[in-house]
Amino acid sequence: MISKSKWLNLAVRGRRILYPRLAIPNKSASSFRDATGATPSEAEKSSNIQVSAPQVIPQRDSKYAEGKVYHGFKCERIEYVSDFELTSYTLRHEGTGTELWHIHRNDPNNVFSINFRTTPFDSTGLPHILEHLALCGSKNYPVRDPFFKMLNRSVATFMNAMTGPDYTLYPFSTMNEVDFRNLQRIYLDAVFRPNLKYLDFLQEGWRLENKDLKDRKSELVIKGVVYNEMKGAFSENSQVFGQNLLNNVLPDHTYGHISGGNPLEIPKLTHTDLVEFHKKYYHPSNARIFSYGSFDLSKTLELVDKEYLSGTPCIDNSYSQIPPQPRWTQPRNVHISSRLDNMGAAYDRQNQIAIALLMSDITNIQESFELNVLSELLIRGPNSAFYKSLIEPNFSGGYNQSTGYSADTKDTSFIVGLQDLRVEDFKKFGELFDQTIHKAIEEGFQHQHVESILNNLELSLKHQSPHFGNSLLFNTTALWNHDGDVVSSLRVSEMIASLRKNLRNDKTYFQDKIKKYLANNTHRLTLTMSPDESYEEKFKVAESEMLKQKVKALNKETMKQIYNDGLKLEESQKAAENTDALPCLTLKDVSDPPKWPKLNVETVQNVSTQICTVPTNEITYVKCLFNITGLSQAETTLVPLFCSVINEMGTSKYNFREFDKMILSKTGGIDFKFNVVENVQDAQSYQLSVMMTTYALDKNVPDMFGLCQELLQNFTFADSDRLQMLIENYISNISVGVASSGHLYAMVGATSLVSDAGKLRSVLAGVDHIEFMKTFAQELNMANLQETLKKIGQKIFNKSNMRVAINCSEPYLPSALNHYNKFLETIPALEKKDVQRKIQFFDPSCQQYLMNIPVNYCGKAFLAVPYLHQDHPTLRVLAKFISAKYLLPVVREQNGAYGAGAKINSDGIFCFYSYRDPHSTKTLDAFEQTYEWLGSNADKINQQAVFEAKLGVLQQLDSPIAPGNIGIDNFLYKVSPEMFVNYRTRLLNITVDELKCAIETYFKNPPKHYGKCILGPAIEDLDTQTGHKWKISS
Ligand SMILES: [Zn+2]
Repeated sequence: MISKSKWLNLAVRGRRILYPRLAIPNKSASSFRDATGATPSEAEKSSNIQVSAPQVIPQRDSKYAEGKVYHGFKCERIEYVSDFELTSYTLRHEGTGTELWHIHRNDPNNVFSINFRTTPFDSTGLPHILEHLALCGSKNYPVRDPFFKMLNRSVATFMNAMTGPDYTLYPFSTMNEVDFRNLQRIYLDAVFRPNLKYLDFLQEGWRLENKDLKDRKSELVIKGVVYNEMKGAFSENSQVFGQNLLNNVLPDHTYGHISGGNPLEIPKLTHTDLVEFHKKYYHPSNARIFSYGSFDLSKTLELVDKEYLSGTPCIDNSYSQIPPQPRWTQPRNVHISSRLDNMGAAYDRQNQIAIALLMSDITNIQESFELNVLSELLIRGPNSAFYKSLIEPNFSGGYNQSTGYSADTKDTSFIVGLQDLRVEDFKKFGELFDQTIHKAIEEGFQHQHVESILNNLELSLKHQSPHFGNSLLFNTTALWNHDGDVVSSLRVSEMIASLRKNLRNDKTYFQDKIKKYLANNTHRLTLTMSPDESYEEKFKVAESEMLKQKVKALNKETMKQIYNDGLKLEESQKAAENTDALPCLTLKDVSDPPKWPKLNVETVQNVSTQICTVPTNEITYVKCLFNITGLSQAETTLVPLFCSVINEMGTSKYNFREFDKMILSKTGGIDFKFNVVENVQDAQSYQLSVMMTTYALDKNVPDMFGLCQELLQNFTFADSDRLQMLIENYISNISVGVASSGHLYAMVGATSLVSDAGKLRSVLAGVDHIEFMKTFAQELNMANLQETLKKIGQKIFNKSNMRVAINCSEPYLPSALNHYNKFLETIPALEKKDVQRKIQFFDPSCQQYLMNIPVNYCGKAFLAVPYLHQDHPTLRVLAKFISAKYLLPVVREQNGAYGAGAKINSDGIFCFYSYRDPHSTKTLDAFEQTYEWLGSNADKINQQAVFEAKLGVLQQLDSPIAPGNIGIDNFLYKVSPEMFVNYRTRLLNITVDELKCAIETYFKNPPKHYGKCILGPAIEDLDTQTGHKWKISS
């Protein structure tokens, strides 16, 4: 998923239906964390982490004037937006009418994107397959898959392309201007002059192919990257639900179709259709160009005009406009089936329901903003009406993923849904929904509740993200796509002020909106979903029926062509190729390490305290790390649950509703998370900790510390009904998303076979955790649990086992320290327990977690060397090299997996993985044959290739960090800025010979400690196929 800034986060709580080119996130919040290998649950969260910190200095750029023309673009509108200290320039190309929106902001992380309004009229996945093909080579860059090649020739902080319900966008971001210009040229050429070759269509879209390529008599199968991708996408039930919700609530135009493609429809698409669609929808007149940051705009204008727009005639793009959905006069009900998720809830509880109501037009900005706030008031947290009426009675697993206000389409919608409930409760849900609305109309809202939500929104405006430009792009794309006023939509403070005024002047302001949009709205869809044990079987039958029809329609001639195409495609995939046409950064461009502010570590009341002064936009960030290595095994396994519920239970002084309101009014939240922190020096030991994170406006810092103190001292687990509900919601939530992040679970699964620390990580955050929690809930003894959770808190919340990091602005530091000191005085000191646990390593083994999905996720892990070992950077470069040169061509291009790669974690675990993979044992064989492949492709390990792999690593090392997160590597892992610089220098200096030497050392002989893991359907003769004994868990 996309990382989104919090102010807009509000706007997109409803899950977006997006099909990205690169589903596997190639970035994470901290450069170091990426190396560590976030656990799946962390990775989910990291997409929402508010990293980073452009230093914002108000700066008005007066180079341009309204009404003037620059390189063929007429400047139509210039506005300064104080909320984000940016200047917005709206320009329009005089020849083609293409709009170019430029945001000038003093932020080094520059963004560029080309967006098209793409409105499919069937579910063949046309716009999605086109999105893949556009990046497969173009006029000026006629190489195979320049997109993937550029991943390692650039230091982009983000690179992707994605297909939404009615738009396709091609965004990237980078802090390096040479890189920016390189990528800009490639992206522009890709979208306006793609080669769209037939063979690429076969590879990326779909094709019939002989099972044995060399045997023209062998049976025919269907293959294709998007074909497999979509099979995988629909193995995630929450995705199926969200897609169906969209299709059914807006059925009459383009939204009635699946823009990503329905696997059973994809094979209806022809190459000719695709080329025609490109001509029409990728015409400059149907394009919107976005640029953001501090780089010179005129260079962009000149390039776009000279190379791509000038000379192109303007066309009327009204063909791609989307009319409003005609409103229904009667509510509708739709029921769908889903696959039975064997990792999910019990069969009879594995149902979902949602009510979706069509709201306002997206271009009505103020209305849309207010409906957004209203839906937060109704849905979010224990003070909201729906939470009280639907969640607290505890007859489900909590809100489902679709819940929220969704503003990704022409008509926006409001959705409330539940997961993991019984069919018998469907009716109850509908009744409660109506009762809740009527009660809200009668009772209205507490002023304090409204204010807490608006305050939180204002705080989030100040909270800086290093990916601000990307967030801005993603969150305005839908509005822009419908010609909405995106510039005004950025004036959030004004919209808040205007809402406050409306609320003051009209006492029933929100109640009237509820009447209009919720109570008296007949455009209302109730969607229900239940598991069907034969779901997969039915799909397989439909798939083979489709295949049969396809084959039946073939004649001798077309059969022959299929056979020849198969061979041709294989030949082109295996052919050596010349990538000289692609630009690449040089060592000079990347030699300087990023500059971070200085870190000071002081001892305050015996607590080690890391202080970082950095411009934070009047916010103070605090992290408290509690070492929990002293907990018993039974206690340790409950720490994830502990972290998830402790801030939801209130305290002995304030009930959970009051406490939630206080937190929301004064802070950005108080969150708890557990960490397994490996010793990056020796890989032989590790520490367990719980980290409490919070932040607040400087003026609210005394309250923030007060609330932390209240929670740490007076936490309570006494309310057993509430605890029971939170546990059930927790279990439902951890089993969501396994299929979409399966590669992370497979790697955690493989790592769990290497050592006890890996096993513990899996029990705390992997598939084992889901299993553990399910069993735990079945045998739950509430009184015991309450006692254990209380004990955990009593044992860990003390300053003897605590470390703290504070990030704030220089002028505020004295006050921050003053309040911090007072806070520390209230925290008890206990016996110091700085225990490092010794890691036990296991003998090699293999494990499969059975899942009834049509694709596999494979992982292999072995112990190499940790972060501070001199070979670590070499292995990290090698991992990038293997990913780009070996796994991507073989496992993705030839074998049809959606993704594959290798990485090394800071604890020294080297991992291989595949993503949405039609094969399992074949992929594991590919992992196994790495050494042989490296041996027979020694010529590929040259200076340029090694440098490209280094760039791939630098993308992670140098990625921007939020002001609140600067210094986190030192804080968590004791990796000082000096160590980081040494590591980076060492990495840049690695030679080809060193790399070859590392291959001999680490890959020649099978490692002593390794594990293999598959997540996916049952495999016949797995043991004989692989020559290993597999442990199978279902
Ligand atoms: Zn895709």
